[in-house]
Amino acid sequence: MDQKYIESTLELTDFIQDSPSCYHVVANAAAMLEDAGAIRLDEKNTFSLEAGNCYFVTRNGSALIAFRMPQDPATGYSIVSAHTDSPSFKLKENPEIRNGGTYTTLNVEAYGGMLMAPWFDRPLSIAGRAFVKENDGSISQRLVNFDRDLCQIVNLCIHQNREANKGYEYKVQKDMLPIISLGSEHTVRELVAEALEIDEENLLDTELFLYNRTAPSIWGVDQEFFSSPKIDDLQCAFCALKAFIDCEDSSSSRIQMIALFDNEEVGSSTKQGADSDFLRQVVHRIGCALDWDFDKRCSIQASSFMLSADNGHSMHPNYQEKCDPTNKPLINGGVLIKYAGNQKYTTDAYSASYLKGILKDADVPYQLFFNNSNVTGGSTLGNISTSQFSIPTVDIGAAQLAMHSPYETAGTKDTLNLVEGMKAFFKA
Ligand code: ZN
Repeated sequence: MDQKYIESTLELTDFIQDSPSCYHVVANAAAMLEDAGAIRLDEKNTFSLEAGNCYFVTRNGSALIAFRMPQDPATGYSIVSAHTDSPSFKLKENPEIRNGGTYTTLNVEAYGGMLMAPWFDRPLSIAGRAFVKENDGSISQRLVNFDRDLCQIVNLCIHQNREANKGYEYKVQKDMLPIISLGSEHTVRELVAEALEIDEENLLDTELFLYNRTAPSIWGVDQEFFSSPKIDDLQCAFCALKAFIDCEDSSSSRIQMIALFDNEEVGSSTKQGADSDFLRQVVHRIGCALDWDFDKRCSIQASSFMLSADNGHSMHPNYQEKCDPTNKPLINGGVLIKYAGNQKYTTDAYSASYLKGILKDADVPYQLFFNNSNVTGGSTLGNISTSQFSIPTVDIGAAQLAMHSPYETAGTKDTLNLVEGMKAFFKA
């Protein structure tokens, strides 16, 4: 495998390992943007913008929009969207279940629709955010990551469930509660307060998720595969960030933008999700800062284009009947362009033609995804965000395997393929 592909994969997996929750994703994305000279805006303050500068704004600490103002009068937006969240288990308040002073387990609920079986028998930890009462009475957000093997969802042995290999319906409240200690009196609240070096009484509330501690791996005869937690959708989120930052010398007259939304895995209908007014507001505020009237804003919107970037499925060799019979994506096959007759994917013949032309000119490989007509596919960001801000959109991603497992698999070449494809889109 060419070293450039290994390096781009390692860059991605480092980002994923540093980003065990959506709040860490946004904090790390913000740090990358600030390193690249982007200016942080606050939604609570007026936007004041200058040509040639790059800006970003966050919402809820879990969604982020970054954009670059062109030197010349803007002619439209070129937007890449992706999502920051991944399916996991979320801790409830007072999570400790003491089991009569024996093992302490944690009370969790499902966040998103995950494959449950692969969550068993892996080292897990806990990450998310806490809100803390500061000395001056204000409330601040702190990131929480224990960053050590802390708990585990443990299987029942085969001897006590001889039917285990004949299919099993997992119930979260029964089967998925991780063990965290053998009779320890400590609470998660105490551990969070200790990790943040605050008095427990100043810990106001938390949003904490389990995450898989298994290290990412590059594997296969030719190192063609890599596996990692959260490939969906941090591969696309990271590639969007990389491509956006790498375009700083671009002379495009378009406003280049990335929109990283939260809550895709639970339907996007939150204030920080793709179904919110976040993107629409930022776009309109840019228009206000540039003194565009309504007519001008509409003409700019009509000249805009979006890539909704969220991974899709590779053909699986053991389950080929699940794949479309004439369009069989494989990992390392390049940018995946996703279509669906029910319009769950936004791609249409016009938007696909626009993107295919860009990718061909840039020598970036691409392949096509359709659901098998007997298989109900997932949904994603594109058709939801276009209901808020309606522009021609293509659904893209990388092909991957084991989507929504805590350890997913994708192709070593595709991170670079996506970055190059997105860069070509931004520069078009
Ligand atoms: Zn996704």
